[in-house]
Amino acid sequence: TSNFCEVIIIGAGASGLFCAFQLAKKGKQVAVFDNGKQIARKVRISGGGFCNFTNLDVNASHYLSQNPHFVKSALARFNQWDFISLISQHNITYHEKECGQLFCDNGSQQIVNLLAHECEQYNAAIYLRQHVDKIELLEKQKFSLLINKKIWHCQHLIVATGGLSMPALGATPLGYQIAENFGLNVVPPRAVLVPFTWRENDKFYTALSGIALPVAVTAKCGKSFQGNLLFTHRGISGPAVLQISSYWQPNESIEIDLLPDQNIIETLQKFQQKSPKIHLKTAISKFLPTKLVEIWLQKQFIQDGTLANISKVKLENLSNLIHHWQFYPNGTEGYRTAEVTLGGVDTNEISSKTMESKKVRGLYFIGEVVDVTGQLGGYNFQWAWSSAFACAEGIVNG
Ligand code: FAD
Repeated sequence: TSNFCEVIIIGAGASGLFCAFQLAKKGKQVAVFDNGKQIARKVRISGGGFCNFTNLDVNASHYLSQNPHFVKSALARFNQWDFISLISQHNITYHEKECGQLFCDNGSQQIVNLLAHECEQYNAAIYLRQHVDKIELLEKQKFSLLINKKIWHCQHLIVATGGLSMPALGATPLGYQIAENFGLNVVPPRAVLVPFTWRENDKFYTALSGIALPVAVTAKCGKSFQGNLLFTHRGISGPAVLQISSYWQPNESIEIDLLPDQNIIETLQKFQQKSPKIHLKTAISKFLPTKLVEIWLQKQFIQDGTLANISKVKLENLSNLIHHWQFYPNGTEGYRTAEVTLGGVDTNEISSKTMESKKVRGLYFIGEVVDVTGQLGGYNFQWAWSSAFACAEGIVNG
């Protein structure tokens, strides 16, 4: 015996659940299958427990993809204001943090509840602790799936299994495997929005663990971000570092400007005129963490002395150290702590209007499993909502 459902969605995360209730609302029969014990586990822990669900400024420039135009159609049809209006209907209040990022006032569980409530209201069925085994295309628009030893058939199959980050939360490569089994190209995945680790030679910086400071970071490709850098036991983290990790390639350095808002040479020259007897250490400790300055002295990257005696060459060296730190990561912390996965199902394989595979009619990919990766700041959830909406509309109007 087998079960039939018009639409089957694999993955009860942000995009899968959103798509489920959009379809159910329009009268489609929907079943969602997830391997976990709970729905939307990443939504729950996202944004430090407050879910940065979108951003006031959403456009294609905040996304990485082999086709930078791919996101435009879906983002235009369901944008940040559409999501804001939905959460307002649910009386979820929110606030803006820096850079247009919107967070729930009372915790991310409110977004999880919204998704669960909408699915329940429109009768989208959710099955948890499900193991999806075998997926076949029997004939045109008829898929067969073996799930928990039961056979299911469906007309539309939506893959919403997300990326590889945080395997502890149920992330698996199933979505990529499905794509490959149907002959679709997958852009090799890589952990991004992830902290960097120290090379052996740089491990003395672990003494700075816990210290944060505002910096500008620039990748070899020229992409640059300003924001906080956090020294950790393993390496460096913080918003600016997570952002640049998406644009960094293995074996490249990143350039860090530890004082992006001033020119240290000019500042010290002014100091020199006013108080020539002040020591270099005292002067630069006014702008940088004292511990960092002490490490530089210990390592003899700089020598202390009065400002009156500091040579031009030494000033230049100091300026390089502060404004042009060439940091060579050993690597990243990987999927264990990465927020998202770069790469995924090649956008050339799917329609930007409906997320449907061009080769296999009835097969769709939405959310992070697609080769679309947002910057830090609510862009990944907005992509989950927008791509899910586009897919649901495609099925309803198709
Ligand atoms: P997911 O939400 O990951 O859902 C995928 C679902 O598929 C999961 O429920 C998973 O259990 C299920 N699944 C996987 N494999 C299988 C399988 N083999 N069988 C059955 N089911 C399977 N983005 C933001 O925009 N703002 C934030 O504040 C933010 N914070 C984050 C914090 C952390 C710690 C992490 C890890 C990510 C954060 N993100 C944030 C990224 C965001 O969570 C994801 O981009 C988003 O959840 C992707 O939605 P999705 O539906 O594609 O995948």
